[in-house]
Amino acid sequence: MAKQEDQFKKVVSHAKEYGYVFQSSEIYDGLSAVYDYAQNGVELKKNIREYWWKAMVQMNDNIVGLDSAIFMHPTTWKASGHVDAFNDPLIDNKDSKKRYRADVLIEDYVGKLDAKIEKEVAKAAKRFGESFNKEEFLNTNPRVLANKEKGAAILKRMGQSLEKEDLADVKALIEELEIACPLSGSRNWTEVKQFNLMFGTKLGASADSAMDLYLRPETAQGIFVNFLNVQKTGRMKIPFGIAQTGKAFRNEIVARQFIFRMREFEQMEMQFFVRPGTQKEWYEKWKETRLEWHKSLGLGEDNYRFHDHDKLAHYADAAADIEFRFPFGFKELEGIHSRTDFDLKAHEKHSGKKLQYFDPELGESYVPYVVETSIGLDRMFLAVFSNSLMEEELENGTSRTVLKLPSVLAPTKAAIFPLVKKDGLPEVAKKIVNDLKFDFNVIYDEKDAVGKRYRRQDAAGTPFCITVDHDTLTDNSVTIRHRDTMEQKRVAISELKNIISKEVSMSAWLQK
Ligand code: ATP
Repeated sequence: MAKQEDQFKKVVSHAKEYGYVFQSSEIYDGLSAVYDYAQNGVELKKNIREYWWKAMVQMNDNIVGLDSAIFMHPTTWKASGHVDAFNDPLIDNKDSKKRYRADVLIEDYVGKLDAKIEKEVAKAAKRFGESFNKEEFLNTNPRVLANKEKGAAILKRMGQSLEKEDLADVKALIEELEIACPLSGSRNWTEVKQFNLMFGTKLGASADSAMDLYLRPETAQGIFVNFLNVQKTGRMKIPFGIAQTGKAFRNEIVARQFIFRMREFEQMEMQFFVRPGTQKEWYEKWKETRLEWHKSLGLGEDNYRFHDHDKLAHYADAAADIEFRFPFGFKELEGIHSRTDFDLKAHEKHSGKKLQYFDPELGESYVPYVVETSIGLDRMFLAVFSNSLMEEELENGTSRTVLKLPSVLAPTKAAIFPLVKKDGLPEVAKKIVNDLKFDFNVIYDEKDAVGKRYRRQDAAGTPFCITVDHDTLTDNSVTIRHRDTMEQKRVAISELKNIISKEVSMSAWLQK
């Protein structure tokens, strides 16, 4: 646990030191759970967004994009159920006065059981070596089975109690499991209460005519209310999807995990409209498709797992999370939800307008069913960033800090150095920068010894360093060094664009 916390602290401080993420309004002591993306962070975030957008919109001829407004008519949120049901169960510890999400306290408890299982697996893998069969071990070892069963039973009971709004039972569960406040260590809890997560604001100048609005808590509703506009103007045929990325706002009860849980964050969502009765198939297909997208980035296949929901939201008939191994354990990264026809029907009812599709093959009109994929851009950023940050022991006994970002996502693709600041080398290096900048983000650096410059770029996540030396002046070649292997090669300046392109091009990564 302490090791995990250390790693997480390193992630947070590295993100600040290398210009990725800053606390919002830091000079005023910050604003809790709100963050700003700095010069490198904004590039990484943009690249993740683009990687998602290309995979969703560009690569699928039946998915189109949308950019709907953050402000929406307030009835939207009545129809969607957010006014009445977008609540989290909160509980306070009377001694530390700290507020928690009751469901998160329970999920963390189950997370510890999962960690125990992982420990057993690691121990057995060591003991049995080559002949170890993980699948068999997970299905037969009595201690693993007992912990698995216990965890599943706890989550099931919590799911059912939350569904029935039986908050007294949620508290009873916390007491039975003897969950203590991580700060005070005490089990002196208040009752569990519901708390609505939407931020309210007002539209209009005068107090009496002003309209109460909400900042959108998800981007999905902008897609639903535009469903028919897009379908008609785009002549879309079911099945088809609408994708959008944009800010969402939630007044989170507890937000102390850096950019994992923010009050202002960005979502990348896609709503896929299907014929009623086919939703199960599409749900399974999108689960697989999204997992493949994650795997294409090479963050390690063992770092993902599905978590099928016992507790379903009011709109869903099936739901699963893709969980990722964050520095603080496996947590939700993306949700895949089969939302039925709940949203479109609700908007029909509240607006009085029909939101139906005429299916030429069936010769009838219906309200489509929807399968949604919903991922937090900031959470994805944290997954990529935390997984890439490592401390490496080198052969010469020293170590280096390296940020092994997937090169397709790296903010800067190459740094160009003159070996020394004289003899015409800076001029040649700057010319290389000027040529490459039409295709890639590149930077020029002449400060400090070359070894130090390499380390700086390793830590910033730059995949290539290119050094101009005295030989360059006669043979037009340079040394190119790769961040991950540290291998250095002599190549012609004319080859640089190709070499970099091959490694960072989005199309090559998307085809993986
Ligand atoms: P959680 O259970 O962690 O609160 P959720 O189930 O409420 O998440 P969804 O409503 O399904 O989340 O939102 C879809 C995605 O948006 C999540 O998988 C997550 O990546 C992202 N997300 C949700 N809330 C936040 C937040 N407060 N900060 C950052 N990302 C978020």
